[in-house]
Amino acid sequence: MESLTPKQQAFAEEAERVAETFAEEAYTWHGDLPWENTAALADADLLCPSIDERYGGQGLSDLAAVLLVDAVGRVCPDTGWFAYTQSTVGPRAIDLFGGDTVKERYLPAVTAGEGHVAIAISEPDAGSDVGSMATAVEEEGGGLVCSGEKTWVGGVPFSDAAVTWVKFPEGLGSVVLPLDDPGVEVVEEHTNMAGYSQTHFRIDEVPIPESHVLTRGKEAFKEQLVSLNWERLGSAICATSWATAGLEHALAYAQEREQFGERIADFQGMEWKLAEMYRQIETAAATVYGAAAAAQGHETPPDRTRTSVAKLHCSETAERVVSEAVQTVGARAYQQGHPLEYLYRLTRGRRIAAGTDEVMKNTIARALKEEGVPAVSER
Ligand SMILES: Cc1cc2nc3c(=O)[nH]c(=O)nc-3n(C[C@H](O)[C@H](O)[C@H](O)COP(=O)(O)OP(=O)(O)OC[C@H]3O[C@@H](n4cnc5c(N)ncnc54)[C@H](O)[C@@H]3O)c2cc1C
Repeated sequence: MESLTPKQQAFAEEAERVAETFAEEAYTWHGDLPWENTAALADADLLCPSIDERYGGQGLSDLAAVLLVDAVGRVCPDTGWFAYTQSTVGPRAIDLFGGDTVKERYLPAVTAGEGHVAIAISEPDAGSDVGSMATAVEEEGGGLVCSGEKTWVGGVPFSDAAVTWVKFPEGLGSVVLPLDDPGVEVVEEHTNMAGYSQTHFRIDEVPIPESHVLTRGKEAFKEQLVSLNWERLGSAICATSWATAGLEHALAYAQEREQFGERIADFQGMEWKLAEMYRQIETAAATVYGAAAAAQGHETPPDRTRTSVAKLHCSETAERVVSEAVQTVGARAYQQGHPLEYLYRLTRGRRIAAGTDEVMKNTIARALKEEGVPAVSER
C-alpha cells in the first residue's frame, strides 16, 4: 500500500510471510484456537502490535493491528479472528484503561500468544440497548463486588478474564472479571453458526480488586464507547479479510473449472462477478484503512461515524461477497467442510456482533443530524 511508512510496509510484509505458514491447516480449526499460529505471530513480534512494549506488544499505531488482521484473516480465518479480538478488543481495553498491576497480570500471556481475554457486554435483557444493563459493581465490606449475568461472550472456555461492562452506583463503567473465580458460573455454553462457543454466565458476588477497575465515573461510558471504535474497526477488517479469502477461492476455482468447453472464468458473466466482488472488497477495505490511518494512538481515537460506516459496509460486503463466491463454485461450495461454506457461516455473524447493522445506521444518522455532512477537508 503506497501510503504506508516503510516501517508499516515491513510490518505488513512480515505479517503476510508468517500468515502463509498457516495456509496448510487453515479451515481445520472449526472454532478451536490455533495456538501454534498465535505463538508464531508472537514469536515474529506481530501479535497485539498497538499494545505497550512493556507488556509484550509493539507500541505501534492501531493501523498495524488492521494490517495484521487483514494479512492473517485471509489465509486462516480462525487465526484472523484471534488476531482481531486480542489486538483490538479486550486486551486493548486493558492496555488503554488499566494500571500496571492488571496489565502485568493479563497482557503478557496474551501478547505471547498463549492467553485470551474476552469481552462481556451483552446480557439476556440488554443487547443493543447497552445502557439498560443490570450487572452491577457495588461497595461491600470495604471492597467491590460484582453480580449479574452476561451472555453471548466469545472465547470464555480459554479466557483468563473478561473485560466486563458494569453499572457502578454513579453510572456505567468497566472492570476486569477473573473468570476462574468460583462466583462465575456457566449457565449455558452455546455453539454459534460458525462452531464458535458463546457463553452465558452468572456472576455471583465476585470480588473485584481496585486494580481491576478499568473505567469508572462521569466520563467512563464515553471512554468505553471510544474504545469500542477499535473493536469495530477490527471486526470490519476481519470481515473484509474473510471476503478476500472468499474471492481467492472463487477465482482459483473459476480458472480451473470448465463448462461448455471453456473455463468458467472466461464467461463474461463470471468476469463481471469476479470484478464486482473485488470492487466491493476494495471499497470496504478503504473505509477501514481511512478511519484507522486518521487515528493516532490513545490521543486521537478513530472517528465514531467513519468507524460505523466501516463496520456496516464491511460486514454487509463480506456476507455479499462470500455468497457470490459460493455461487461461483456451485454445489461443491455448498457442502459441509468446504472453505466457502465455513466462510459463509462465519461472515454472517459480523452483521450482528460488535454492534448490529441497524445500530451502526443509527449512529451515522445521529451524527449527520447533529453535525451535517462532513466537509471535503474532513475526509
Ligand atoms: C458472532 C457473535 C459474537 C458475539 N460476541 C460477543 C462477545 O464476545 N461479548 C458480548 O458481550 N456480546 C457478544 N455478541 C453479542 C452481540 O454484541 C449482540 O448480539 C448485539 O449487540 C445485538 O444484541 P442482541 O443480539 O441482543 O439483539 P437486540 O439488541 O435484541 O436486537 C434485535 C434486532 O433489533 C434491532 N434493533 C435493536 N435496537 C434497534 C434500534 N434502536 N433501531 C433499529 N433496530 C434495532 C437489532 O439491530 C437487531 O436486528 C456476539 C454476537 C455474535 C453474533
